[in-house]
Amino acid sequence: MAKDLVCDMDVDEKTAKWKTAYQGKTYYFCAPGCKKQFEVNPQKYIGDSSTGHPHGCGCGGH
Ligand SMILES: [Zn+2]
Repeated sequence: MAKDLVCDMDVDEKTAKWKTAYQGKTYYFCAPGCKKQFEVNPQKYIGDSSTGHPHGCGCGGH
């Protein structure tokens, strides 16, 4: 099972219709809108794992 990083839903990679490759990894989405949002700003959803605080979280406190 993969995760749709945009809406946080679980997506089955075997049946997923919407996916995109980014930096050598494949990401799966539940809907075309989620894929589109991801492609506009992938870093927002991948975030920075070293801080555990995703970019673009909207808290404005970085
Ligand atoms: Zn989604």
